[in-house]
Amino acid sequence: MSTLIDPTLLEKVKTIMLSSDYFVIIPHVNPDGDAIGSCIALSRVLKNMGKNVNIITPNEFPEFLQWMEGIDDVIDFEKNPEKVDGIFDRAETLFCLDFNDFERTEGLKNYLSEFKGTTVVIDHHPGPMAKCDLLLSYPSVCSTGELLFRIVEGIGLLDYLDRPAADAVFTGIMTDTGNFSYNASDPETYHIIAKLLEKGIDRDLIHSNVFHTFSEDRWRLIGHALKEKMVILPQYRTGYISLSKKELEMFNYQPGDTEGLVNYPLSVRGVVFCVLFSEQDDLVKLSFRSKGNFSTNDFARKHFNGGGHINASGGKSFQSLEESVSKFEALLEEYRDELLNCF
Ligand code: 5GP
Ligand code: MN
Repeated sequence: MSTLIDPTLLEKVKTIMLSSDYFVIIPHVNPDGDAIGSCIALSRVLKNMGKNVNIITPNEFPEFLQWMEGIDDVIDFEKNPEKVDGIFDRAETLFCLDFNDFERTEGLKNYLSEFKGTTVVIDHHPGPMAKCDLLLSYPSVCSTGELLFRIVEGIGLLDYLDRPAADAVFTGIMTDTGNFSYNASDPETYHIIAKLLEKGIDRDLIHSNVFHTFSEDRWRLIGHALKEKMVILPQYRTGYISLSKKELEMFNYQPGDTEGLVNYPLSVRGVVFCVLFSEQDDLVKLSFRSKGNFSTNDFARKHFNGGGHINASGGKSFQSLEESVSKFEALLEEYRDELLNCF
């Protein structure tokens, strides 16, 4: 069993889980497999303990997570703000999963900062900023899903983690490691996966549900992005893809359609840093990935109002798409030595 987590914190979270009756669970905006997976897993554990639980997402979640058991009960705040009424007043405990800064919940952030009950943050991003009563922050763990499993096991509540909760934990681990291609060298991850398999998960089916349910449009968008829009700058060991709103619309863009696209330039020999720019209604969203010791987190924080992990971060730009790309290209000169010496 994992010994990573401070036993005092485990004792505290256990007391909170046992003594509260009404919980609200929140992931970050544009929730991914790990954010949704950890929310569903915790929700099932609590419901199996006989507790009342609501999951509220700041906005919509991708189509490729729709298969998860329990997903139908998730409230999308942006779509149904009226459904949130009363939930934060009733809830005794608020769990914030897979983020550590209330800004990451956009429209929900005031509900979080004004919450009167107990706030618990469980997360694996560096540099926690959220004001909370209990912080379980472990950036060395690959995913919040895995961290949550370690916590539930650590406090002796693993019997309440049923097969659908195990599916959700596995989804978090699988998606946050890029299907076991990065942050996936901790033996404990595989001990945990063995326990998830013993809970009855069908690993192959989950993989297929997440990665093999693309729409034809999504594949065509990827084809277009790679053929027409991928730029490789060998002098900076950097690559990028930029997609305008018009291009996204051309391929009938749905949330989640660009998930994973950012990684492709990183598979080009020599490339250590890459970015995906996607133009949205009122901003340009940026996704950063890197190899080795080049910190996308520092880059995103410093230049693009964002953050994340060393090798995977996100950010936003309020300039036009063209201006955002130009700004990015101009910045690369400053990082040239760091990029060329990255290992
Ligand atoms: P993605 O590129 O997949 O959207 O995000 C990669 C990682 O960076 C995720 O762990 C995500 O939580 C984090 N991230 C994405 N966008 C932002 C942002 O605007 N601010 C911060 N602090 N983290 C972000
Ligand atoms: Mn995560």
